[in-house]
Amino acid sequence: MDFNNEFKGIDFDAMDYPPTDEPLRQMYFMYKLRKVFDEKEKSLGRKLTYCVVTFGCQMNAHDSEKLEGILEEIGLNAASEDTADIVIYNTCTVRENANQKLYGHLGQLKAAKKSNSEMLIALCGCMMQQDDVREYIREKFRFVDVVFGTFNVFMLAELLYRRYSGEKQVIEVKKEHGKNFENSLPEKRKYSFKSGVNIMYGCNNFCTYCIVPYVRGREISRTPEDILDEIKSLVADGVTEIMLLGQNVNSYGKKYMDESEIVKSSAEYDFPELLNDVCKIEGIRRVRFMTSHPKDLSDRLIEAIKNNPKVCRQMHLPVQAGSNRILKAMNRHYTREHYLEIIEKLRASVPDIGITTDIMVGFPGETEEDFLDTVDIVDRVGYDQVFTFIYSRRSGTPAAEMEQVPEDVVKDRFDRLLKKVSEKAAERVGRFKNTIAEVLVEDMDSHDETMVTGRMSNNTLVHFKGCKEMIGKYINVKLTEEKGFYYIGEPADNLEGLAE
Ligand code: SF4
Repeated sequence: MDFNNEFKGIDFDAMDYPPTDEPLRQMYFMYKLRKVFDEKEKSLGRKLTYCVVTFGCQMNAHDSEKLEGILEEIGLNAASEDTADIVIYNTCTVRENANQKLYGHLGQLKAAKKSNSEMLIALCGCMMQQDDVREYIREKFRFVDVVFGTFNVFMLAELLYRRYSGEKQVIEVKKEHGKNFENSLPEKRKYSFKSGVNIMYGCNNFCTYCIVPYVRGREISRTPEDILDEIKSLVADGVTEIMLLGQNVNSYGKKYMDESEIVKSSAEYDFPELLNDVCKIEGIRRVRFMTSHPKDLSDRLIEAIKNNPKVCRQMHLPVQAGSNRILKAMNRHYTREHYLEIIEKLRASVPDIGITTDIMVGFPGETEEDFLDTVDIVDRVGYDQVFTFIYSRRSGTPAAEMEQVPEDVVKDRFDRLLKKVSEKAAERVGRFKNTIAEVLVEDMDSHDETMVTGRMSNNTLVHFKGCKEMIGKYINVKLTEEKGFYYIGEPADNLEGLAE
């Protein structure tokens, strides 16, 4: 955006009021903010800076890229949390103690704000969707300047402008999604060659331990046209790997955000079809997706994975528990038998697929027998990786009112589960040793400047001798050594000409 001239033929300075149409309205506020910052930078004799601190899941990480994109577009530079002029905490509320952690961080920032009178503190993300949290912040943390919700991310420039224009504490939290502007506002991507793309928002599942449906709203999908257009523009910008994001991508397409804009969408257009269409885009080499819910994982999706070599050989399929009684109490809508059947079909259709999962220990009412059913699932499936969690009581969810399992019992079960998980993982690792795998190089190795690090299609990390010119490229690597969760390898192709 050129802040010295009019924007796309529009003279913002000549406007008496901000435009009402989005995203033009946000462009207007970005333009106005730049003018505010020009003045400030002139009097301070330095550039203004920002820091976005992200907690929680991939969806939050992706929202943070949008926040950073807007701030960089306005001309701010990144800085550390304690020195930045604008600090934004993008919060997560999945765990109960997250609130206390945030309040602790705010206490520290209060001191930093005293030594930098320019510092502006903003809070956003899932925690801000909760009325009681906002009330607490309004009362106890009056030095917080801006509070906004998960559906207001695109409004960052407008909210900051309101604060700089004299409003004391700006609070703006929508309860549901409005029109979508994913495609129209700037984004600062961590990697130039890969990107997440939101395909839907919210969740309808109401697992009894989870707060997400209450804070992220009901499930709603972006139209296929909108998603495919965004991916095409990412490809034009150099992206070759896409991660399709949603709380439950398998139920994509049940309800669209903007029915009036649907051309291609129909009752039949579902996630497998979207996956096929994404793979058809020229320039896309890899497609990943997350998260999948077992109850919605269809045979058509397994077919789509099997038939599209561009779909990564990776499936994260949270099982949460191995006992039917606990799965029912969790409101997960599948049985262990159904889950095992899906795993069997997946392995039969896509033999090299890497399967990972989430497991929760100590859900209210979990007996020793229930727990042993969970251990049994780990035994039977043979996961590539298991993300284990201790159940965390989350007020506002039905499970918080159920009878809790004593802490010492949970701790003992958790340790036993970890032991089983590492035994099983040890059986699986190394199965690709001495084979050649295509690796997308992501970074220089942080411990050895002669090495690079990248990921196989099934998401396994690989380290090998390389140089920065390899970053963003697909390189065939012979996997020579297995190191638990990663491999050491050596390039299998002649890479002369890549190095400096
Ligand atoms: S599927 Fe369940 S665990 Fe996942 S976001 Fe929805 S309610 Fe939460």
